[in-house]
Amino acid sequence: MLRMIISVRPFIHLPNLLHKPDFYFLGALMTRNLSRLAKARYDVAVVGGGIYGACVAWDASLRGLSVVLLEKGDFGSGTSANSLKIIHGGFRYLQHGDVGRMRESMQEQMALMRIAPHLVHPLPVLIPTYGHGLRGKEVFACALAINDLIGFDRNRLDDPQKHIPRGRILPRSEVLQLLPNISEQNLTGGGLFYDGMVYNSERLLLSFLHSAESMGAELANYVKVGGYLREIDNVRGIKAEDMISGERFPVEAKVVVNACGPWSDQTEEILSKGHGHQRIPWVKAFNLLTRPLFSSYAVGLAARGNYSDDRALFNKGKRLLFMVPWRDCSLIGTAYRSYEGNADQFSISEEDIHEFLQEINQVYPHAALKTKDVAFVNGGLLPGAKMDSRSGDIQLENEASIRTRGDVGARNVISLVGVKFTTARRVGEHVVDRVFQILGKTPPASQTSVTPLHGGKIPNFQEFLNQEMDNSPRGLSPKAVHRLIYNYGSSYRAVLDYLPDTGGRDTHDESESTGVLQAEVRYALQNEMAQRLSDVVFRRTELGTAGYPGDRPIEMCAAILSKELGWNERQTQQELAKVRRLYPR
Ligand SMILES: Cc1cc2nc3c(=O)[nH]c(=O)nc-3n(C[C@H](O)[C@H](O)[C@H](O)COP(=O)(O)OP(=O)(O)OC[C@H]3O[C@@H](n4cnc5c(N)ncnc54)[C@H](O)[C@@H]3O)c2cc1C
Repeated sequence: MLRMIISVRPFIHLPNLLHKPDFYFLGALMTRNLSRLAKARYDVAVVGGGIYGACVAWDASLRGLSVVLLEKGDFGSGTSANSLKIIHGGFRYLQHGDVGRMRESMQEQMALMRIAPHLVHPLPVLIPTYGHGLRGKEVFACALAINDLIGFDRNRLDDPQKHIPRGRILPRSEVLQLLPNISEQNLTGGGLFYDGMVYNSERLLLSFLHSAESMGAELANYVKVGGYLREIDNVRGIKAEDMISGERFPVEAKVVVNACGPWSDQTEEILSKGHGHQRIPWVKAFNLLTRPLFSSYAVGLAARGNYSDDRALFNKGKRLLFMVPWRDCSLIGTAYRSYEGNADQFSISEEDIHEFLQEINQVYPHAALKTKDVAFVNGGLLPGAKMDSRSGDIQLENEASIRTRGDVGARNVISLVGVKFTTARRVGEHVVDRVFQILGKTPPASQTSVTPLHGGKIPNFQEFLNQEMDNSPRGLSPKAVHRLIYNYGSSYRAVLDYLPDTGGRDTHDESESTGVLQAEVRYALQNEMAQRLSDVVFRRTELGTAGYPGDRPIEMCAAILSKELGWNERQTQQELAKVRRLYPR
């Protein structure tokens, strides 16, 4: 408890927050204080503020270790900002006969719905079945039954909104009613099962960081780790550089965890001079955000080309494209391409987008998608395994790699490369077990699968939502409260403390949403280390992630940031231009 109280920064503006009973409000002010970092010696320094780094920081701090996490850009601005937002329930791993991975995904899906009930919700997935072979409804029915058996305990959450119904086969007529424009030739029905969906993956990552911060972790974005403080077989810490001021400083730590995602090759090369670091083969992956194609269900349709996966027990010969309903749009993915460059050279070309649109239109001609229908492109690099031995098709790595000691050139450095957003919490737990081993201590049991994250203290999500919408705090409309709760959960009232006086229901709809957005921007500045316009537009608020929101709202955000952060006109225009460049032309 002492730690939580210490983590309240006395010099921060605290508008009406101190009367809140929830300790998270007190402990969750993420502030960037670099002068402190150089003076302390931490148990563990985490390099990289993607979902994996965030999960390690939360697990380690919850188990009582002192933690510092440094991120060279903004938190979650790497691969983690780019996922299809599916929290896998494990069904897809049945074709590999990988029961262990199925169980792991099911448990993680359940854990995330428990600890972040405002952000993770069940997602129905419908896959049309064709013929009576491997892609037919009989095989699908067996697969669903096995899946339900393996997930016998997946509904042990108290909240009924989080319960996953049994999978079932829908008759052909019902599938055609739900998906009237899919190919009817040989259609025999459809298999319905449930995955999980993250409403806002950037805020899920921030919830992990807020929670870590509330347990005393020190966090800083825009700080790059450029080297290590070396000893003979060990490191003493890391060399950090503030990407905003250019200042360099050392940070001492007993253990270093590299969670740099696709940049891990670069950090390992620095470390392993002379130790012969082995490069990971990376795969370019991306998905497109388009006008809505299907609502209510995520739909999986078989791609046209043949696909071979020599690790599968049942090779269906086709890869599925998923069209996922998300915030009045469709997220369509995932496209994979082989990749040669390094992480800093990553980009998605117009040709990539064009080719993928063609593939989608072949799979689902009714979509007739054109370049102008693409509102946003999410892309990143994923660790590849190898090509399929017969076909040369791209295959992704299945398991996270956690390497340590001699393997990475120093005994107290752990190198972590994850494969799925879904399993980051659990992998973080394993990494922290290793940290304890290196420290020569017995690890206390991890509690991150059962401890609500910041904003996640909601025993019954639907009840909480209805109650708060009825209460209409500060006179807000149910629509505004709904949106805030889906983003901030039980912490949403902390955002309301930044509302302008006119932010309530008595104002007309547009000024209400403007008032709420202004409050979110101020909250992000004061409590969530927003430094750039892109941080606010893409990773603190939901303003920019579902397509270009228009000039007015982003200019309003820029005006608040420029006033608070002292930008001149040229800097403000540069920030605006950087944000606009991220949208497809
Ligand atoms: C298109 C796409 C769709 C996907 N869809 C899904 C999905 O639906 N479900 C799912 O479960 N998974 C999905 N994934 C996978 C998932 O997104 C990744 O496994 C996960 O985000 C990887 O997180 P990470 O923390 O390892 O990497 P990152 O998010 O890349 O984080 C690494 C961080 O390290 C920082 N860094 C690097 N070098 C340094 C340094 N020297 N100093 C300081 N910081 C540094 C980087 O800036 C970066 O922010 C998808 C991935 C892609 C690309």
